[in-house]
Amino acid sequence: MSMLPVFLKLDGRRCLLIGAGSVALDKIDSLLKTGLKLHVVAPEARPEIRQLALEGKLEWAQRSFELADLDGNLLIIAATDSPEVNAQVHRGAAERGILSNSVDDIPNCDFYFGSVVSRGDLQIAISTSGQSPAVAQHLRREIDEQLPADLGPWLESVGRLRREVLESHPSGEARKLLLHHLAQRPLCESESCPSRQLAFPPLEEEQTASEDDAIADEEFASFGESFDLHEELLPESGPGSDVPAETVHLVGAGPGDPELLTVKALRLIQTADVILHDDLVPQAILDHASPSAEVVNVGKRCGDKAITQAEINSIMIEDARAHRSVVRLKGGDPLIFGRAAEEIAALAEAEVPFQIVPGVTAACAAAAVIGCSLTSRNSASNVIFSTGHHAQSHNSSQLPELEDATRVVYMPGRDLRLLAREWLQQGLPPEFPCVVVSRAAQPGQLVRRTTLGGLGDAEPTLAPSLLIAGWAVGEVAAAAQLIAKEISFTEG
Ligand code: SAH
Repeated sequence: MSMLPVFLKLDGRRCLLIGAGSVALDKIDSLLKTGLKLHVVAPEARPEIRQLALEGKLEWAQRSFELADLDGNLLIIAATDSPEVNAQVHRGAAERGILSNSVDDIPNCDFYFGSVVSRGDLQIAISTSGQSPAVAQHLRREIDEQLPADLGPWLESVGRLRREVLESHPSGEARKLLLHHLAQRPLCESESCPSRQLAFPPLEEEQTASEDDAIADEEFASFGESFDLHEELLPESGPGSDVPAETVHLVGAGPGDPELLTVKALRLIQTADVILHDDLVPQAILDHASPSAEVVNVGKRCGDKAITQAEINSIMIEDARAHRSVVRLKGGDPLIFGRAAEEIAALAEAEVPFQIVPGVTAACAAAAVIGCSLTSRNSASNVIFSTGHHAQSHNSSQLPELEDATRVVYMPGRDLRLLAREWLQQGLPPEFPCVVVSRAAQPGQLVRRTTLGGLGDAEPTLAPSLLIAGWAVGEVAAAAQLIAKEISFTEG
């Protein structure tokens, strides 16, 4: 039977706690925060609980529990180690129509305490309906790690602005949009914060909905609902304007596995208004975008309709000036073969603030797949990230110790003969170990080992793939069998 999650207002209401040991103490802190009147009945009490009684924060009756203690309470919690007492409390409470909980004693509970993640007034409570408190605790930890630490003060700020908006703006669609806008944006304390400023100018629009309906809509409106901000809500900005544009985030999406996203990347993807992504970014990652976000594939190889770099730059700039939060999402790390330099230059020239969020680059993901330390102490003190397109220009004269490097070639192309010939001409030995890793950290991951001598004849692999070459690669071939494979893959 499913349970009803509720948040209770308990200020001033009477609540009874039976037991005053460590289990009871665990509950007391969260109970007292609600402002309820707490009565404790127990023959003995921990010193902390005695102290709270002395300070007048709770009342402690030093004796055994009696059924008459139950009368007049809104909630009852049994925190004893006696199943008999718990059962007696539960029965007695039920007879009086009062809800009760017995800590860690599921049959004697009408309700459970959720595992809670909190940031100020924001509370997320998790329940597994008693199936597995351990699962709830793990989830709690995962959610806690992902929520920004400053969410509490931010929520308070949003709350203050919401009250301002409800007072100063007439109800209706425009006000509802504005409240959603304020809820999505990073709101800072600065008076010049663009989102903050939006709360103040009164709107001219005629309103139709009644005040109460609008407030109710605002409270319960689905965040999945698709909407665009009305232009009249958005102040002009750009060079010469007082209101700065929204920050554009150049975000690394990692090699493909959504679990290899950084926590920050995930948060930005979830809250972006616009996501401009490359071909390399898989749907499993894009699925984290808000349903109201505009998600655009600006990959150069996207169908017939190639979007130019200049077009990408201008979309980013225009959207940021229109106060939409833009995430420019690139496979791997944005600063490695991601043409980020052009985008950074364009944003800087347009005076649009930007931030770069690193990601796990394909080289690291591929090295993890084959268990290869790219800088193995025995065989490589350098790592070279290069691209097949420019492989010709990396000639041996720049490498004092030709073999003392692990070479990672991004975009190696399907035909590796030219590259192999070049490296052999440079003086690398034919037995120099090579491995081609395709679709690292993605379904269909494939590893092909060979040597420089055999590289030219290696079968083409599916894109995206990269080549790692070096003695460090040879070192790990045997150990690779032991790597736990989260994503099944073929060694060819
Ligand atoms: N910025 C990206 C690289 C973009 S260049 C990064 O840091 O990873 C695109 C090339 O990266 C592909 O042609 C391929 O060589 C490599 N690549 C990207 N993702 C890959 C993956 N999951 N497995 C293997 N190679 C990958």
